[in-house]
Amino acid sequence: MKILLIGPQGSGKSTQGKLMSDYLNIPFIVTGDILREIAGSDTAEGKRLKEILESGNLVDDETVVSLIKGRLQKDDCKTGFILDGYPRTLEQAQSIEDINFEKAIYIKIPKEETLKRLLKRGRTDDIEELINRRLELYFQQTEPLLEYYKNKGILVEIDGMGDIEKIQSDIREKIQ
Ligand code: AMP
Repeated sequence: MKILLIGPQGSGKSTQGKLMSDYLNIPFIVTGDILREIAGSDTAEGKRLKEILESGNLVDDETVVSLIKGRLQKDDCKTGFILDGYPRTLEQAQSIEDINFEKAIYIKIPKEETLKRLLKRGRTDDIEELINRRLELYFQQTEPLLEYYKNKGILVEIDGMGDIEKIQSDIREKIQ
């Protein structure tokens, strides 16, 4: 099964994605993790990515598309995967038009709640200014993808405001 996870930072995508990955026995692929790993390496590319991540802006499509495509070609993705953090823009969505996702799961939470949760999480890029920048980009560029996947008939909306187990069982029900 090929699944997309969509939602603002702090919506619980990573918690839910891990649980789904265990349940479905398919890999959970997180674009931000792949980029953070390279950004942590002592190379020119690592330095370049680190600067972009620290600005809260998006990494260029060319870099992200090639990393994601490379990752999805690995053997463990043959029976399916859960993708988080990609696509972030309509152009990125078009670049993976050839992948037939069964479901695009949208975890919905109010904007104020995302800010509250992210400030608590305390990742190095979770300072208020950068969070606001990422949320602004999310609402501007990523939310339009909901319409795109709705038109494809694969969008599933999940209320992200309950407890973890309840949200997970809602997801499992919707992907039967
Ligand atoms: P995340 O962990 O999803 O919040 O991503 C952390 C950072 O990685 C973002 O602020 C972007 O700079 C970068 N990033 C993650 N996914 C993408 C993507 N699909 N396209 C461009 N940049 C991305």
